[in-house]
Amino acid sequence: MDCIFCKIAAGQIPCEKIYEDENVLAFLDIGPLSEGHTLVIPKQHFTKIHECPAQLLAQIGSVLPKVAGAVFKGMTSDGYNVLCNNGKAAGQLVEHIHFHIIPRIAGDGVFTQWPAKKYQPGKVEKISEKIRAKL
Ligand code: AMP
Ligand code: ZN
Repeated sequence: MDCIFCKIAAGQIPCEKIYEDENVLAFLDIGPLSEGHTLVIPKQHFTKIHECPAQLLAQIGSVLPKVAGAVFKGMTSDGYNVLCNNGKAAGQLVEHIHFHIIPRIAGDGVFTQWPAKKYQPGKVEKISEKIRAKL
């Protein structure tokens, strides 16, 4: 499989490493949205969150506070976004699960759109039923 993040995890392609343990790696994003933009990945290849074993996601989750806290404090930022794009339609370019940690400074304009909508009456129950049916 020709996956750039698998190659980074295997040490075949260099990265600016922030954190590593047996299962998880964090490194600086090469095309940062802000300085200190960091990616956290499982070393094992999975494409989307719902395809990844819960135990491995739990290991990533247990690392997030440490790495996010270090990014937040190290960059003396005002906040940060944690973002995981799943699928091309959601903006996923690298098909190996990764969590972006994006340091934010007040008023930095990194994300300028949050196109919130409203449900028509009666729609919210139908939508929630569709989702619950797939749990
Ligand atoms: P996404 O659109 O969520 O798939 O994001 C992929 C991210 O991976 C982008 O922010 C890229 O800048 C980043 N990226 C791609 N190749 C590398 C690389 N070799 N080292 C570090 N980050 C990378
Ligand atoms: Zn991979």
